Amino acid sequence: MPDKQAYIGRFAPSPTGPLHPGSLYTALASFLHARARQGKWLLRIDDLDTSRNIKGSAESILKTLEAFGLHWDDSVVYQSQHIELYNEYLNELAKNNLIYSCTCSRKTLADIYSGLCRDKRTSQNEPYSLRIKTDERTISLQDELQGLISHNLTGQHGDFILKRKDQIIAYQFAVVIDDDRQQVNHVVRGFDLLDSTPRQIYLQQLLGLATPDYMHVPVIVDKQGYKLSKQTLATAVDIKTPHVVIFGLLDLLRQNPPRELQHAPVAEQLNWAIDNWDPAPLKNSRTINPGCNS
Ligand code: GLU
Ligand code: ZN
Repeated sequence: MPDKQAYIGRFAPSPTGPLHPGSLYTALASFLHARARQGKWLLRIDDLDTSRNIKGSAESILKTLEAFGLHWDDSVVYQSQHIELYNEYLNELAKNNLIYSCTCSRKTLADIYSGLCRDKRTSQNEPYSLRIKTDERTISLQDELQGLISHNLTGQHGDFILKRKDQIIAYQFAVVIDDDRQQVNHVVRGFDLLDSTPRQIYLQQLLGLATPDYMHVPVIVDKQGYKLSKQTLATAVDIKTPHVVIFGLLDLLRQNPPRELQHAPVAEQLNWAIDNWDPAPLKNSRTINPGCNS
């Protein structure tokens, strides 16, 4: 009998700008969760959406993680290197009659796609997207922090897109294939992605892939309650004083770092945090507002 499966986690930023405190917060949580279980922590750059990629930001993200002592295992993986693999999986789904092409324009579409093109013969001369057929099944997961989540796929998501009209592989699809390819069995990421998880589990079921454990940590929001992101002009983290940033983030992760640690080198702070890691105080939290933390 093989040993209990070893923990494999990952951080998968999109190279759409420099790392901001909100992403570093998630990175730190996922790093600590992995290291506290003597697990591997992999780094993947989710660079498929070429329209959103910003030149140089992958390099800048790697440099920032290094500066904060968040060292990853193995070599960095870039999703853009696996385009053939995604297409192979698409072919498999096509063979099983589980995907179809859709030429609907954004204007004619409501949020939840009704399946208009399911039984239509679309002319392949105009740009089309590929959609997965969903059914009435309910997908449930037990999130380590957010508890039981259940989604009805047809009712809540409809037939969602796996490959966009511009040929770009959709996040929902790529993430499932890459997590499997890297044998990731623990996904720690921001609460904003929880809504995507049932769709990803559905794809895992159709493709016969294992479903990892999920833990969705709260996202840092600004005073108005908006998630820090490029859109809200979140500034890049300051890498000149990493120990100040890490101490602040440990506080926001509700780890209660001892005062003596405030001026300690980052490596020491992280060692303390690994030894004492306990995500329980984040239970049921969806957002963290730095101004209101007490
Ligand atoms: N690349 C995604 C993002 O930056 C995260 C992917 C994931 O953790 O599943 O939002
Ligand atoms: Zn359509």
